[in-house]
Amino acid sequence: MEMLYKSTRGDAGEVTASQAILQGLAPDGGLYVPVKLPTLARTMREMSQMTYRETAYEVLSLFLTDYTEEELKHCIDAAYDEKFDTEVIAPLVQADGAYYLELFHGATIAFKDMALSILPHLMTTAAKKNGIKDEIVILTATSGDTGKAALAGFADVPGTKIIVFYPKNGVSAIQERQMVTQKGDNTSVIGITGNFDDAQTGVKKMFNDTELKKELADKGFRFSSANSINIGRLVPQIVYYTYAYCKLLAEGHIKDGEKIHVTVPTGNFGNILAAYYAKKIGVPIDKLICASNTNKVLFDFFETGRYDRNREFVLTSSPSMDILISSNLERLIYHIAGDDSEVTAKLMKNLTDGGIYDISDSMKEGLKDFASGYATEEDTADAIRTLYEKTGYVIDPHTAVASHVYHEFAKGTRDNVRTVIASTASPFKFARSVMSAIEGKTSNEEDFALIDRLSAIANVALPPAITELRTAPVRHDTVCKTEDMKLTVSRILGL
Ligand SMILES: *Cc1c(COP(=O)(O)O)cnc(C)c1O
Repeated sequence: MEMLYKSTRGDAGEVTASQAILQGLAPDGGLYVPVKLPTLARTMREMSQMTYRETAYEVLSLFLTDYTEEELKHCIDAAYDEKFDTEVIAPLVQADGAYYLELFHGATIAFKDMALSILPHLMTTAAKKNGIKDEIVILTATSGDTGKAALAGFADVPGTKIIVFYPKNGVSAIQERQMVTQKGDNTSVIGITGNFDDAQTGVKKMFNDTELKKELADKGFRFSSANSINIGRLVPQIVYYTYAYCKLLAEGHIKDGEKIHVTVPTGNFGNILAAYYAKKIGVPIDKLICASNTNKVLFDFFETGRYDRNREFVLTSSPSMDILISSNLERLIYHIAGDDSEVTAKLMKNLTDGGIYDISDSMKEGLKDFASGYATEEDTADAIRTLYEKTGYVIDPHTAVASHVYHEFAKGTRDNVRTVIASTASPFKFARSVMSAIEGKTSNEEDFALIDRLSAIANVALPPAITELRTAPVRHDTVCKTEDMKLTVSRILGL
């Protein structure tokens, strides 16, 4: 069955998967969604002995139907290889009554690697399929994590270049080191003298600059974006929920058909939306538990049916979840409205105009698949410490938010449903917060000293992504003013 995609905000046109991946955002500003959701061709039992790559093929082939088997297998093989430090790609670790699905074994030790290691290959294949000869230039502003994961994904992928802007004084020392040491002849990393919003605004301006677009086209380039609304990032995330269920089944933790819960530390709503799609295509999932930090705009939404971004933005120890506009929620809104793009467009306009919208009672019915909760900073630190003291297992602050929310949920419902918690970052990436949670006090040691101590107490070897940082030479040292971002891009591309 051919799978086509349409915009959440309009009924204008349907595009193929490869076209949706090339475009990222739909022309009317909406997000691409499948016109009709597929269902898995094989049973969980049949898939229970599959490797990660085989599972990836089962899922991707349902959604990306205009890719040939050979093309998909090529993309999958190029993505899920030795860049991951374990052959199973996404291990499940049982600790204190839950199953932690470790999504941080890729190049940048955070879950964005799961999708960003395959997106470049899906994109260059899409360009070929659609007769596009231009070189793809990925332009990204980052507050730290996404930029590095995109750099690692696109590094040395033929037919692509990637340019990343980050706030020079707005990322952690480790994050900056990760980026400025990035290898790959097609990579550029630039610090700007402004903050993340300045970087983001500058990038958006370039995307909308018609003159620049023309100059690019004349030189055989076209811009593309690697951000999390691209279905080329969303679909690969469905894979690991399917895989996790199959592993639980294969190892006898659940019976065939038994439902599980999934808990996801949520920011932009991409990861949990993938779990929602996993449920819709036939993975036996009961509740999707949405976990927020102090920026609990999603928790409030699930409680009341009102989305309200008008509130204070708080910086937390789980920075990748510090978000007031969860872009991917638009896809859920569309589905619970009964795949109604008119309703979705209206609500999104309310969000743009006043920062607020209310969903109807019938739409609220559609939220039954979800439960939600949030963790304060104290809850987060407690979750890290408690789990460590009980089991010796160490989790990062994002995962700890989910862990707290799950245990509160389980206390409240007293059900015994097996639960998978998406573990989205290695604790080594946030060693300072993790160590202060475990020791109950902040330390003034430098980052690498803390990392070494964490490795010792957790009894986990340092991942290569960290050890390499100590000695990797700096390859990018350009700094520019916010107003010179376009000039810098022109210089890099020789326009
Ligand atoms: C991006 C990120 C999240 C949030 O994921 P969304 O898909 O944006 O909801 C959670 N944890 C970590 C470590 C992340 O990098």
